[in-house]
Amino acid sequence: MIRSSFDAIVIGGGLVGAAIAYGLQRQGLATLLLDEGDIAFRASRGNFGLVWVQSKGLGAPHYQRWTRGSAEEWPKLAAELQQRTGIGTGLQQPGGVHICLDEEEFAQRDAYMAQLRREAGNLGLEYRMIRGAEARDMLPGLGPGVAGVSWTPYDGHASPLYLLRALHTGFTGAGGTYRPDARVDGAACAPHDFRIDAAGQSFRSPRVVLAAGLGNADLAPQFGLHAPVRPQRGQILVTERARNLMLMPTTTIRQTEEGSLMLGDSKEEVGFDLGQTPEAMKMIANRAVRAFPWVADLNIVRAWSALRVMAPDGLPIYDQSLRYPGAFTANCHSGVTLAGIHANRLAPMIAAGQLEPDMAPFSAERFDVRSAA
Ligand SMILES: Cc1cc2nc3c(=O)[nH]c(=O)nc-3n(C[C@H](O)[C@H](O)[C@H](O)COP(=O)(O)OP(=O)(O)OC[C@H]3O[C@@H](n4cnc5c(N)ncnc54)[C@H](O)[C@@H]3O)c2cc1C
Repeated sequence: MIRSSFDAIVIGGGLVGAAIAYGLQRQGLATLLLDEGDIAFRASRGNFGLVWVQSKGLGAPHYQRWTRGSAEEWPKLAAELQQRTGIGTGLQQPGGVHICLDEEEFAQRDAYMAQLRREAGNLGLEYRMIRGAEARDMLPGLGPGVAGVSWTPYDGHASPLYLLRALHTGFTGAGGTYRPDARVDGAACAPHDFRIDAAGQSFRSPRVVLAAGLGNADLAPQFGLHAPVRPQRGQILVTERARNLMLMPTTTIRQTEEGSLMLGDSKEEVGFDLGQTPEAMKMIANRAVRAFPWVADLNIVRAWSALRVMAPDGLPIYDQSLRYPGAFTANCHSGVTLAGIHANRLAPMIAAGQLEPDMAPFSAERFDVRSAA
C-alpha cells in the first residue's frame, strides 16, 4: 500500500501524462502517476519521434504557436532531464524537410507553407521551398525524381523511448509516486476533491489530470469533461543501421542516433485494429525509396503499428472541468513534440489551478459537446 492522499493525480503514464506529472512534481506538488499497463493502447511506445513544427496548425494559429513554443522548450527540458537523470533523449534540432515527390506535391506544399506563414502573423515563420542541387546538398542521396522540399529551421527529432524513460525517472527522482498496473476503474468527484479508485486502492487529491490517451474518451464524462478522441493507426518500418547519411529528419524518414532509418507512416481509420498490412508497408517503403533510392539496399528489421490519439479536428484538447474544477484533461497526437510545453507550461498552469486565457481555443467546447453526449 502506498500513501492515499496527493496534491495531484495524473491518470496515464504515456508521454503526455509523464510530461505533466514530471512538471507538477518539479513544481513541488506531491504527485501520483497511475498507469493501466502493457495491455493498454500506448501511442508513446510506437511513434516516429519527430519534434515537428512545419506541418502543424494550418487554420489554427494557436496550435502553430503552441507547437513552436514546445520546440523552444525542448532543449531546456532535454538538458534538465539529462542533468537530473543521466538519460539523454537524443534531441537534435537541425531543421527538417518535407519531401515532395512530384510537381503536384510541391505546388500543394508551397501553397500550404505560404498559408501557414500568413496565419503565423507576428510570430513569423521562416521557411523555404528548395529544389535541385541545393536540396541534394542538404540531403545527400536524394532521388532524381524528387521535385523539391519545404524546409524550416524549427524541426527536429528525439528518441521517444528515452524521453519516456527520462520523464519517468525524473518524476520518481523528484519524489513522485508511480503506480503501474493501476487501471482507474472508478471515481467520485466534487469540486477540488477527487477520489480515484485503482488497483484495489482509493486515492484522494484536489487535482486530477486525465492523460490516458484513448482511455480519456471513457474517463472524461465521469469528471464533467469531454474528450472525443478516436484511434488512427500508423505503421512504421525500421531498417538495419546505415552509414550516417541523413543530415536532418524528414516528415516520413529519419535516422536514429543509433543509425537505423525509421520509415513512416500511414494514417488509417481502422478503429482499434493494431494489425499491419502489406499494402501500407509497401506504400511506406515505395515512398522512401523514391525519396532516397539507396534505402532499397537496406534490410527491414522491424515493423509495427500503433494508434494515434486523434480529436475530430486533429488538434489537441486541453480543458478544466466546469462542473468539477480541479479536473483537467490533456489529449494530443503529437506527444513527443509537445513534451517540452506540457512539462514547462501546461503543468505550471495546472499547478496554479487555471488554464491561461490563450488556452481557450483548445477547449472541447469547440465540438458539439451536447449532441456528442
Ligand atoms: C505511428 C505514430 C507515429 C507518431 N509520430 C509522432 C511523432 O513523430 N511526433 C510526435 O510528436 N508524436 C507522434 N505520435 C503521437 C504520439 O505518440 C502521441 O501523441 C502520444 O504518444 C500520446 O501520448 P499519451 O500519453 O496521450 O497516450 P498513450 O501513449 O496512449 O498513453 C496513455 C496511457 O494511459 C494509460 N491508460 C489508459 N486508460 C487508463 C485508465 N483507465 N487508467 C489508468 N491508465 C490508463 C495507458 O496505460 C497508457 O500508458 C505518433 C503516433 C503514432 C501512433
